[in-house]
Amino acid sequence: MDRLKPCPFCGEKNAVVIRINYTHAVRFNVRCRQCSCMMNRRFVSEEEAANTWNRRVGDTDGKERTE
Ligand SMILES: [Zn+2]
Repeated sequence: MDRLKPCPFCGEKNAVVIRINYTHAVRFNVRCRQCSCMMNRRFVSEEEAANTWNRRVGDTDGKERTE
């Protein structure tokens, strides 16, 4: 999936969804490969992590509608 917005800190388009494996569950987060920043939260789905990451950047271009 390549729908992640640029990193809010370094501005690079290097963000990826990462999977975190716990003993009893799997969580997701988004991490920037450029500056290694991550959100301070864990998400139950890739989509939720990606959506939150994208919202965090601030939708300056106003493209929030999917269709
Ligand atoms: Zn970054």
